Amino acid sequence: MIAQVIVDVPVSRTNRPFDYRVPGWLSPLIHVGSRVVVPFGPRKLQGYVIGITEDDGPEEALHRLKDVEQVMDDTPPLTPELLKMSEWMSRQYLCPWVTAVQAMLPAVLKGKAQKWLTASDLLDEETCSRSGLLWELYRKRQLPLAEVEKQFPDEFMLVPGWIHSGLLSTEYQVRDRITKKQQSFVRSLLTPQQLSESLASLSARAEQMRRVLEVFLQHPEQSFSVQTMRDEFGINRSALKGLEAKGWIAIEQVEIYRDPYANRRFQEKQKPDFTPLQLQALEPIITSIKESSYASYLLHGVTGSGKTEVYLEAIEHTLMKGREAIFLVPEISLTPQMVERFKARFGADVAVLHSALSQGERYDEWRKIIRKEVKVVVGARSAIFAPFENVGLIVIDEEHESSYKQEETPRYHAREVALWRAKENNAVLLMGSATPALETYALATRGRYKLLKMPDRVGNRPMPQVHVVDMREELHSENRSMFSRLLHEMIADRLKKQEQMVIFLNRRGFSTFVMCRSCGYTMRCVHCDISLTYHKSNHTARCHYCGYTIPQPSHCPECQSEHIRFFGTGTQKVEAELAKLFPGIRVIRMDVDTTSRKGSHEELLSKFRQGQGDVLLGTQMIAKGLDFPRVTLAGIIAADTSLHLPDFRAAEKTFQLLTQVGGRAGRHELEGDVVIQTYTPEHYSIQHATRHDYPAFYEDEMLQRRRTGYPPYFRLVLITFSHEEVPVVVRGAHVMGDFLRQKVAQTTILLGPVASPIARVKDRFRFQIMLKYRDEPNVAELLAQATAVFEEWNKQQKVLMTIDVDPYVLL
Ligand code: ADP
Ligand code: ZN
Ligand code: ZN
Repeated sequence: MIAQVIVDVPVSRTNRPFDYRVPGWLSPLIHVGSRVVVPFGPRKLQGYVIGITEDDGPEEALHRLKDVEQVMDDTPPLTPELLKMSEWMSRQYLCPWVTAVQAMLPAVLKGKAQKWLTASDLLDEETCSRSGLLWELYRKRQLPLAEVEKQFPDEFMLVPGWIHSGLLSTEYQVRDRITKKQQSFVRSLLTPQQLSESLASLSARAEQMRRVLEVFLQHPEQSFSVQTMRDEFGINRSALKGLEAKGWIAIEQVEIYRDPYANRRFQEKQKPDFTPLQLQALEPIITSIKESSYASYLLHGVTGSGKTEVYLEAIEHTLMKGREAIFLVPEISLTPQMVERFKARFGADVAVLHSALSQGERYDEWRKIIRKEVKVVVGARSAIFAPFENVGLIVIDEEHESSYKQEETPRYHAREVALWRAKENNAVLLMGSATPALETYALATRGRYKLLKMPDRVGNRPMPQVHVVDMREELHSENRSMFSRLLHEMIADRLKKQEQMVIFLNRRGFSTFVMCRSCGYTMRCVHCDISLTYHKSNHTARCHYCGYTIPQPSHCPECQSEHIRFFGTGTQKVEAELAKLFPGIRVIRMDVDTTSRKGSHEELLSKFRQGQGDVLLGTQMIAKGLDFPRVTLAGIIAADTSLHLPDFRAAEKTFQLLTQVGGRAGRHELEGDVVIQTYTPEHYSIQHATRHDYPAFYEDEMLQRRRTGYPPYFRLVLITFSHEEVPVVVRGAHVMGDFLRQKVAQTTILLGPVASPIARVKDRFRFQIMLKYRDEPNVAELLAQATAVFEEWNKQQKVLMTIDVDPYVLL
């Protein structure tokens, strides 16, 4: 038997399967999709079996093959569909196959091979006395080499000598980073009859042992954890050990799941009577689900139109068909509130994959899927890889969110992977948003997705009234505060009426850079060439790319002026200002500083929900998906900071943000107001957001995109090169650029090579090439060829090259 294995070395040289012989004793364990350990050169690596053949080659060829050393799981973690999908991804996104595979698995399974140091039998107490390291090894037998280097830096250099003299040896081992969580359970091995007899045979002084037998007499057929025995029945471990020795009970290790929701009760919830718009949207979706045929829908519904109820109903019909459902939400909207809605409806059938879970918790949720213990997965981007084998429905909520695009290899978009998966499984793809991505809406208007509309809020609640305030006029009227007079008035009004508000700070701009107001000098990172961000807590300026940090200077390095300070507004500053203007106001601030601790996000939100705050103040974090009945005012401090980014999606992102924030107000019985403060009130993204007019925004923005040659009219590929020396990186970029220029179609535009907008990161210079194409039937193949040419040249150099297909970040 021969296994074809791809190994965990993500470079193109190894980006193909290698043959290994499967020793007889392993053949019952190995399957296509198994994780294995294989020798590779001098190392041992983790690999994935992508094919198995019976050995039919010539004997001598077979002899040259090395053996698979280990099969790591009883059940292969990769289904045939996932394997096929990973191969497609590696072609589509030009990434090494193994990186696509790894993106599909929970982190704990990406076990890294580690070198271990092992003590031999020659090592005795006497030899050990010379050295702390040897003593440690004598006690523990084995230590990872990396740990040895850290713990015993002084002795590390002696290790080769000890290996030479036979005291120590090294080997590579691949181990899972986290083992399963286990608990000890106690079970009776006796029949009730035997229990009574045994009880009678015990002396009265063996009180603890007698109690154990009594417990089992009262609860036949039941087992108890050792912990329960202790806490509820007051039985200590030695009594259990004694009974185990007699052979009357068994103490066993049982694997348990770490369930972060274990101690929460979920109320069962009845579904509502659907509105006519919901029914109209549901009808074709349910028909497609019943037919088990491929179909894709874009549900364009305003915030509060009841989209989530439509998703839940679609999922229920999928389960009734005996099929499984994947529900994707942006990381940031995967709130406990959202999880509750699912658990309330589908109970224990739901697994939740959330990055706030610990690695162990994630792994446990994932195992519920592969063991077919659940039928619904709710999760962020990577939940699209849930190892179901009968997917009938994939829902993508807030499909326009940029977090569906992965910004590291493999640079996939979850929407595109979902499309592939839906077609492969004859499943239904249902995308929903109040502000669909332009690309998606364009395809929907051309009929590639069926467009479903829900233009009204549930219960005919009015859309909130939107007020736009021109901040330039505020300044003319001598108002230098960050709050316009209108917003000030409305905050005071809500405080009086004891209603709640959200105040939102658009921080996607360069809002906290350090600038000299005399000469305009801005502080930049010396390694990365981007503005440093001001951090108030310790008065430093810090680079968000590499962590470079310097104290906030008191004088401008250029002109010596004292007027150098951070520019723009942070959440802390808004909080301070609110406290000054409205004494006694209760502000709950949510930003990276207050939410970095696990669980703090949820704590703050539930405090707000319980009315322990008047204002929820925050950044992007509070714009999405939250649903608070008593919020009647949403204020946006500076709407246009995101308009001025060097990004062709700047207007689209601004429109989305304003719409989302507006959607937070007046969702229930109380009506709501939205105040947008801006320096460019005439901009079309702000104007259309004010009127909740997505189609009008779409028309205007499409004109812009056509004029400037951006998606959806053109598709993009961004190729980025980096190296410590400018001439080297420029040459590398030209090697690839020249090749492409010869091969691309006439209608394709090739921009560059030019320096990237962020020209240097961590002391590496960055250059880029951008392809803009309309008619390039085989882009992937073309890029693969160009990559080969580049890599041939790059053999002696160390230029890093990345390809981003349909990029989101253009910096
Ligand atoms: P969206 O996802 O479009 O923002 P939701 O599905 O969250 O909207 O619905 C908004 C609110 O309306 C929620 O509180 C939800 O429980 C409620 N809701 C949705 N559909 C109905 C309905 N048919 N009848 C009554 N209430 C509904
Ligand atoms: Zn200056
Ligand atoms: Zn830096």
